[in-house]
Amino acid sequence: MLEGKTGIVFGVANHRSLAWFIARQAHRHGAKIQLVAANERFRDKMAPHAEKEGIPEPLICDVTQDESIEQVFEQIQKETPQLDFLVHSIAFARKEDLEGRFVETTREGYLLAQNISSYSFVALMRAAEPLMTAGSNALTLTYIGSQRSVPNYNVMGVAKAALESTVRYLAADFGPSNIRVNAISAGPIKTLSSAGIAGLREKLDLQHVRNPLRRNIEGDDVGKAAVFLLSDYAAGVTGEVLYVDNGYHSCATWA
Ligand code: NAD
Repeated sequence: MLEGKTGIVFGVANHRSLAWFIARQAHRHGAKIQLVAANERFRDKMAPHAEKEGIPEPLICDVTQDESIEQVFEQIQKETPQLDFLVHSIAFARKEDLEGRFVETTREGYLLAQNISSYSFVALMRAAEPLMTAGSNALTLTYIGSQRSVPNYNVMGVAKAALESTVRYLAADFGPSNIRVNAISAGPIKTLSSAGIAGLREKLDLQHVRNPLRRNIEGDDVGKAAVFLLSDYAAGVTGEVLYVDNGYHSCATWA
């Protein structure tokens, strides 16, 4: 489905990262992949997994630093004059802002979550634009806490609401160039980031009984849905949030 395509995947921290499941599935479906990690520690953790799949070791980029974004795109451009897709699988909020009452969120914590989890998608798309051509596309990752108040998701829910709106505005900006922008709203999966959200275990336990498919989402569910959105099979899909949550969003029993 992705033969002859080249993509860059931001947000690999370890072998549980959704970015890794997406990268691996995209690679298995024929794409040439460049991974990007936030720092040396994550790069070194990912390198052996990448090597096993025949994917080069990750580049490094801290999305809070404009120079870091500039540098990573200089490196990418050397290898890849044309980018068929970009995956943004990045989020961060302080642990203390992912529990208790949302109203206690500090200005600093709020802005940090927005900066890393939402604004970074805008910054990466601006940097990627010169490498994208008609038929290219971008994908980000969101969660239903953007639409409903989910206990403890708090400041990240607000950042995800901004991210989903960002998808629609970017889709409008890039659409005339035939470049698509979409999001996957994934059901809860245990990863480095989600482990920081108080009560994740109960959320996972409830998934078994509360969603139509009666099971938890797996990384490859997200990876395979991403392959569809990244491919030409989704040529008419943009500005969209695709739920990959075993139908959780569609039924009234969730809480
Ligand atoms: P993860 O911790 O593996 O991935 C988050 C990534 O963000 C990490 O690689 C981390 O290094 C990166 N990051 C944080 N700050 C950064 C910075 N300053 N510069 C560059 N990168 C930075 O966890 P994940 O669950 O795979 O998260 C990936 C995406 O999926 C996130 O947007 C998350 O909100 C979203 N998501 C996760 C779930 C879930 O249950 N795990 C559900 C829905 C959506």
